[in-house]
Amino acid sequence: MVYAPRDDGGRDLLDIVARNEAITVTWLKSYLSFGEDRPLWALVADEVMAKKALADDLSVDEAIRRNMYLQSWRAKAVGEGSLGNDLKRMVKIADKLGVRQEALAVSRDAQRQAIIWYHKQSTANRQLFNANRVNDCLKRKHKMMLVGDAEILTRKAQTNRHTSRRDCKCIACSDTRTASGCAHPNQCFAKARTMLMSLLPKCC
Ligand SMILES: [Zn+2]
Ligand SMILES: [Zn+2]
Repeated sequence: MVYAPRDDGGRDLLDIVARNEAITVTWLKSYLSFGEDRPLWALVADEVMAKKALADDLSVDEAIRRNMYLQSWRAKAVGEGSLGNDLKRMVKIADKLGVRQEALAVSRDAQRQAIIWYHKQSTANRQLFNANRVNDCLKRKHKMMLVGDAEILTRKAQTNRHTSRRDCKCIACSDTRTASGCAHPNQCFAKARTMLMSLLPKCC
């Protein structure tokens, strides 16, 4: 049919397929633009995709699933309970084009705004980000979400007076205990640093 002569409508079908792909690529480009001009629908798409993680990725806390192209989890794009047709098409095209984060133009500011949890550019084992006592403290008490947040926490442990003692009396540890209720600031600062250091150099 697609190879049929134009008179039989074969050519038109090819054109429609090509045009639909071109439209989807346009969507994908806007979806993957992470600057201030990111369209509202892309934010909605992020939420929809976050709710549809693959079974293997269900251990990734839904609250920290933001964007599967910036993080190491995937939305379910085939089968029951998968994404709607438009998003499915977009994911398919992204796979076909081999979209990778390195190819995306991400400004330094945007890098700081990226979610640190399950960061796609992290060279660490994903377990680094899994739920445990310190990671839960980082999320709930320190409200650490972004690369920029991890940078701030990392800096807190870089003063001369700071020690790795649980009861360290330095200003950063004392302030952190008071402000967030964290019982082990050094462990949290150190974990934030490990996550930050695990990111590929060009990413932050
Ligand atoms: Zn300290
Ligand atoms: Zn803590």
